[in-house]
Amino acid sequence: MKYNYQLRVSPEAAAKKELLKKEVSRHSGIGVSEITHVEILKRSIDARQKEVKINLQVDVYVAESFEAKDFSLPDYHDVTNKEEVIIIGAGPAGLFAALRCIEGGLRPIIIERGKDVRSRRRDLKALNIEHIVNEDSNYCFGEGGAGTYSDGKLYTRSKKRGDVQRILHLFVAFGATRDILVDAHPHIGTNKLPAIIASLREKILEYGGVVKFETRVTDILITNNEVSGIITQTGDKIAARNIILATGHSARDIFELLDRKGIEIEAKPFALGVRVEHPQELIDRIQYKCDSRGEFLPPSPYSIVKQINGRGMYSFCMCPGGIIAPCATSPGEVVTNGWSPSKRDQPTANSGIVVELRMSDFGKYGNSPLAGMNFQKSIEQKAWVLGGETQRVPAQKLEDFVRGKVSTQLPETSYKPGVTSTDLREVFPEFIHQTLKAGFVEFGKTMKGYLTNEAVIHAPESRTSSPVRIPRDPGTLEHIRIKGLFPCGEGAGYAGGIVSAAIDGEKCAEGCIARIKAAH
Ligand code: FAD
Repeated sequence: MKYNYQLRVSPEAAAKKELLKKEVSRHSGIGVSEITHVEILKRSIDARQKEVKINLQVDVYVAESFEAKDFSLPDYHDVTNKEEVIIIGAGPAGLFAALRCIEGGLRPIIIERGKDVRSRRRDLKALNIEHIVNEDSNYCFGEGGAGTYSDGKLYTRSKKRGDVQRILHLFVAFGATRDILVDAHPHIGTNKLPAIIASLREKILEYGGVVKFETRVTDILITNNEVSGIITQTGDKIAARNIILATGHSARDIFELLDRKGIEIEAKPFALGVRVEHPQELIDRIQYKCDSRGEFLPPSPYSIVKQINGRGMYSFCMCPGGIIAPCATSPGEVVTNGWSPSKRDQPTANSGIVVELRMSDFGKYGNSPLAGMNFQKSIEQKAWVLGGETQRVPAQKLEDFVRGKVSTQLPETSYKPGVTSTDLREVFPEFIHQTLKAGFVEFGKTMKGYLTNEAVIHAPESRTSSPVRIPRDPGTLEHIRIKGLFPCGEGAGYAGGIVSAAIDGEKCAEGCIARIKAAH
């Protein structure tokens, strides 16, 4: 027999099988010896009360054996001789689009400017240690896209985007831990992501797909308002009748190309601010309301949203036990973001803290569709100058920032290229500076101990979402005017993270399948 229960247990009971059986027995009246297996279906941490509890949904097997479900892949067939779809970009959107194309009987040809996951590591090292920014291979560009060397948080704010469970099941089938199906806030971790991405690529190749690394698209050819091919940086031309454009939010050259060619794109609001780093222990004390989190609780995350001077200011991509990464994609700019290993075992917690921007904020940059992008770029370039014209970033202790005092000494932070003590007021326009200042005071009221000089803020956190939208027909998902062009994923403005980008990739592949079917 199998029974389903909701339980509320201590962190230790949630972690230890025998203790959990005892809890189930106490809750259900079933004898411990009769319970053959307890399978956790959902797990979330409730830290609202003084004592932290774990909420569980479990299946309890009584006098019946349990067999772990096999997460098999869809039924793929060889597509070597099938109609081709060009996919520009091997981020989550591009890779999941490719798999869906194979499922639908089309041959994906992925064109990626960066390197495979393994070769990419060398460029990340050069970026961290020698401050060299390779414009084709960095934390945003290369196999797996911006998602590869990320935290690998796999939750999406909007469940309306599509079938999240399907994407999570595919991740498990490609090697992710089954915990991602159970945890309320699943994550994979930077150390585990590259192998998963590589096995995804292997599957695409196995069934006849093609992946071309170190190949940057420099032009998209259009004939009579319909795509006809692409040109790469070597001048090669590849003919194409269907193109999924999944180049991410940092491919400024692609936005400029579309604008230059008169292909409609629009500026869109995004958010921008700083990346703050606290000792993880301090965040644990605040969130778990205890001196130490102990053996059975994970490093605590936090999430905070405030309205300050009529604008939203919120935490973004918070990484418990994580590292701040240099995410510039061109020389002459600095950008921060964060990642964490699967165990989240680093001593620091970091988070983007960003201020919502409006279209009117980009005024100085005109009415151009690139106004938001140019605003973003100007702040990244200013920070580069103030940081010392290397990958060092301007930084300030948090309380000093709020008091308007330049920090005399900065502690070493997890940001490897290093920090330069700066009055961060100089980095931002006054409205962002004032909002951040007032907002951090409010954060300190909600999370007692948060506003402290033990925390260091790094500037800027500027690539929160795309500053551009590429408009598409909501039915066919093709560009509003150019037939056969499918703007896809985060760069096109239709996703905001790994899972939503993967979902959008699948949707665009379905758009291609429908278009090709209709043509036959
Ligand atoms: P991208 O992942 O940006 O992929 C675009 C790809 O296109 C890149 O590989 C790029 O090289 C390629 N490309 C660009 N231009 C060209 C061209 N001209 N020719 C050929 N190829 C081109 N999201 C989460 O959900 N959870 C997290 O924990 C998380 N942490 C993050 C941490 C970091 C450090 C970073 C940088 C991002 C993080 N994100 C996270 C965001 C997430 O990675 C993105 O939302 C997601 O990768 C977007 O997917 P995408 O496929 O739309 O675009």
